[in-house]
Amino acid sequence: MVLRQVWRVALATGVIGAVAVGLGVPRARFLLGGALISTGLRVQDHLEPYDFTHADAVERPIDVWNEFVAQNELSSSLRAWFPRTPEHPLVAMLVCMDSRLDVGELTGDTRGYYYVIRTAGSLLGAAEQEMLELAVANGVRLIVLTRHTDCAAERAASDDAARARYPELTRGVLEHDLHIKEFLARPVIAAKIDAGELMVKEVLIDTGTEHLIAGVKP
Ligand SMILES: [Zn+2]
Repeated sequence: MVLRQVWRVALATGVIGAVAVGLGVPRARFLLGGALISTGLRVQDHLEPYDFTHADAVERPIDVWNEFVAQNELSSSLRAWFPRTPEHPLVAMLVCMDSRLDVGELTGDTRGYYYVIRTAGSLLGAAEQEMLELAVANGVRLIVLTRHTDCAAERAASDDAARARYPELTRGVLEHDLHIKEFLARPVIAAKIDAGELMVKEVLIDTGTEHLIAGVKP
């Protein structure tokens, strides 16, 4: 099943690659890059963290750290070979820290055009509001405030025991809409929106597919 998915993505990659080479246009190159990334994600997806290092290891913190460092060594050495082009973000996003969400997949784009703030439950406290305002000062034209289905932070906020254990998180989740209103009322943000220089959108993400399932329409 997994292999079939990999082959399907690889086939799509090949087709798009041929189109990209044939056309040599930016859109085709963008699609080819996305297809290659999707292939990589599908190849890695079902591997357990210790499949390839020490199969019987207990997941001690030191083991996890050592693997983290080893993966960084490899990945950063590749980056040194292929340095990325500095980009100027036009979009800022607020996304839950849920590991099932991947901003690259969500946007279909791994270029550096996105500022991303990740907080459990997409909390938008005073500090996060300042971060987004800073992003706007740096040229951002679109802010996407996301929530997602099956959010553990939102579940915790509706559970008595969890509410007692995580009072600040709970308050942040319950006051989410209030914080969005606060943010939109900030003078710099309101002025930019009025001037047509900034748009703020609220969307709901389907966690299973990363599809935007609400709030997409203008
Ligand atoms: Zn969440």
